[in-house]
Amino acid sequence: MVGQAWDTDTETDRAGMDPFPVRSWFPAPARVRLEGDLVVHDYDYNERYEPEGEPPPTAGLLDAFLKLRSPVGVLRFVRSFGPLGFCEQHGELGCQREDCTEPLFAEPVDAYLALANRYRLLLASGLRLMGGAPLDETERLAVAGALLVDAAREHRWDLGLFDRWQVGTAVDSLIAQARIRPTFSWGEGRRPTFALDSPLGSGIPNAAGALALQLGRAILGTQAFSVCSTCQTPYERKKTPAPGRPNYCPTCKRDGTADRVRKQEYRARRAKESS
Ligand SMILES: [Zn+2]
Ligand SMILES: [Zn+2]
Repeated sequence: MVGQAWDTDTETDRAGMDPFPVRSWFPAPARVRLEGDLVVHDYDYNERYEPEGEPPPTAGLLDAFLKLRSPVGVLRFVRSFGPLGFCEQHGELGCQREDCTEPLFAEPVDAYLALANRYRLLLASGLRLMGGAPLDETERLAVAGALLVDAAREHRWDLGLFDRWQVGTAVDSLIAQARIRPTFSWGEGRRPTFALDSPLGSGIPNAAGALALQLGRAILGTQAFSVCSTCQTPYERKKTPAPGRPNYCPTCKRDGTADRVRKQEYRARRAKESS
């Protein structure tokens, strides 16, 4: 076990950068492939892909996860950040069902896509609430489910409070699901390692914990994310855009969508001014 540790000596140094550097061990990228509906990885304990002295491989993790929309995207994600630890049978992270058979070396691609969807929803909703706006009804239903939304209406709960509570609970349950915990281990190095890990079923630390923590940070604004004005995908950016100003994700800038929308809006403004 090397470099990627969170220990008491460097805790404060790291705090400014990332207070929760959750580690991830992952197989060499070449060992990951798509097989039908599964993303499959051969894990070899002797061939651990954990470059010494490099920062934890969690920079850009959330941004990459939010972009997942296809099996090839999932393959690329797992090659870069390692498997998250879904069980093959139920597609659950850190599955604890009694009938579940390990190992976690083949994961359903759909489980990645569904979780990415949930992350996009929670981040967009969280950012909207942080901006002081309520959720729209579609978002509210997607976050909380019809049963709870109906109950909230029936009991005349404050919907703003209800939305915050629901988004908060949903993010918290993702963090709980990743089962992050401080681990103390001693292996090849002279010193033991004290680190935050999220070792799901397989016992192999993975990026699920870092992902959940980054979602929380992104909603809090400690990591700058905003929602693209055209495709509605949350994406990481250096600066938070001015409120009310349209902003476009790199994909929409690249494929010309942003330009098209800007021109349409310009023409609409001109037409309004001259009428
Ligand atoms: Zn399972
Ligand atoms: Zn976009």
